[in-house]
Amino acid sequence: MREQIGILVQLQEIEIETNRIKSALAGVSGKIGGLDAELSNAGQEIEKEKSLIDELRKKYRSCESDYQANLSLYNKSQERLSAVKTNKEYQSVLKEIDDIKVKNSRIEEEMLKDLDVIETAEKEVSRLKKEFLSIEERINREKEFLINETEQDKTNLAALDEKWGSISKNVSPELMQKFNMVRELIRGIAIAPVADSICSGCNMNIPPQMYNELQRFDSIKFCPHCQRIIYWGKA
Ligand SMILES: [Zn+2]
Repeated sequence: MREQIGILVQLQEIEIETNRIKSALAGVSGKIGGLDAELSNAGQEIEKEKSLIDELRKKYRSCESDYQANLSLYNKSQERLSAVKTNKEYQSVLKEIDDIKVKNSRIEEEMLKDLDVIETAEKEVSRLKKEFLSIEERINREKEFLINETEQDKTNLAALDEKWGSISKNVSPELMQKFNMVRELIRGIAIAPVADSICSGCNMNIPPQMYNELQRFDSIKFCPHCQRIIYWGKA
């Protein structure tokens, strides 16, 4: 029985390792999705900045055409100035000319500000583009690493499966059936060592009589509290 228990413990270890690998594999597609999202966010940052520049350029062009329109009004007013007959008319045209000048100097100021903002945004775009390239490089490296790791995990899983197959042949069919029953029931560690009368599966005390019997390794025993297969030994 001691040998049979030893094999179950090995099977248990194979199962733990198999589950660890399977959960790592299950996380891989999420990790790759996260990396893709990171890169796509970095790309969107660039697009946002570019569309800001487009808007500013549009605004700049519209200022420019307002400026030109005012300029032709200004020239017309200047022409009228030489043809006026009365002082009142003269003053009124002068005022028109002044208003146009004020308007255009405001527009000019606005345009200079826009040029400044455009320049800053263009610098930001080239900074973001550089950043994007380095993010892309890192993400490609991380993806490659994940893919290699996945391949390795799959190879390890196949090896563990094979090991399970060859080891489990040495367990008596009745014991294997009991082991499988407990595995299904517990959905975790199915076989647990008992040291100093305490079941390591549930941390509860085993009755003294049972603890004594365990040390003889002459029959299969179950923890009366958690139903795991138990054996005498250290965890
Ligand atoms: Zn227990």
